[in-house]
Amino acid sequence: MKVILHVDMDSFFSAVEVRENPELKGLPVIVGGKIETEEEITAEEPDRKIRGVVSTCSYEAREYGIHSAMPLSRAYELCPDAKFLPVNMPLYKRVSREIMTILKEYADKIEQVSIDEAFLDVSTKVRNWDEAREYALRIKREILEKEELTCSIGIAPNKTIAKIASAFVKPDGLTVVEEVKAREFLAPLPVKKIPGVGPKTEQMLKKMNIEQIGQLASYDVQELVAKFGKYGTRLHLIANGIDESEVEEEWERKSLSRERTFAEDTKDASVLNNCVDELAEEVYNTIKKEGFVFKTVALKVKFEDFVVCTRAKTLKSFHSELSMLKKIAKELMTEFSQGKGKEKEKKIRLVGVRVSNLGVVDEKQRRIV
Ligand SMILES: [Mg+2]
Repeated sequence: MKVILHVDMDSFFSAVEVRENPELKGLPVIVGGKIETEEEITAEEPDRKIRGVVSTCSYEAREYGIHSAMPLSRAYELCPDAKFLPVNMPLYKRVSREIMTILKEYADKIEQVSIDEAFLDVSTKVRNWDEAREYALRIKREILEKEELTCSIGIAPNKTIAKIASAFVKPDGLTVVEEVKAREFLAPLPVKKIPGVGPKTEQMLKKMNIEQIGQLASYDVQELVAKFGKYGTRLHLIANGIDESEVEEEWERKSLSRERTFAEDTKDASVLNNCVDELAEEVYNTIKKEGFVFKTVALKVKFEDFVVCTRAKTLKSFHSELSMLKKIAKELMTEFSQGKGKEKEKKIRLVGVRVSNLGVVDEKQRRIV
């Protein structure tokens, strides 16, 4: 049995803002840009337009008819008292990483699809749909406890239905669509609920008198192919609850490295150590910016004869200090320069420093997790 979860954080940016600023709780919060105060707007340039669009808004703001992608100026007209906040992407990215770290623990495979959404294949973790529901509840609880944020989860036999299901009840929703009930669940929904069906496809389908997924499911597949090509087949399958696409373990930051080739091959210990120091600093600056901590430090050396050797050391716990990174990298370098007979004799052409086994810094607790 295949069990796929789609986890979608609820109004993610504004929810994070409210978490960070509890006085915003219960208020209409709009993330997307800064708007001048009343005085600034009415004073000299009454017509000055407020630029930008709503990125996310709280559910309280949605009650005023405000939604994502709406021009901020319009949102301001609808609710001048809303709290307008600029997009603080570094903060959201950090929280996103923490959430993905939690989700990873629950998944056989995980595919992050956006900053606040991921597919989890949990097929080996649960035996039936009841267990899947319990499992999803555990995920929701852990995210709420650790991150003080709610999410909505869709559970289904495939990715497409899981995604549709996570949007079915929101916020703080949990929707299970068992395999045998998939077609029944999809049938009454408008076709635009299918991920990828935009206004254009919706319009084309409407001209064919297809407005609900059920109508699409029973439509002649050949006619769909004539109209949409291959995509017609896919639409027909999806409408019938079939989607074979796998949860793709996606790229993630697993390591970070910097390397340098010398202008002239060298055996000079001070040159080599200086180089290691500099590379360690470059690596450190990047992982610090991205909020990572490391467990493994590796040193790569390419000798004058182009033979490449790597040595690595893994620490018992995560570290974040530059001094530790430098220390280990230099120890590894010493191992090379004092190494076995042959290595010791050779000049070095290139040096690289790499950190891997990366973790994230828990910002709330200001410590390493
Ligand atoms: Mg979301």
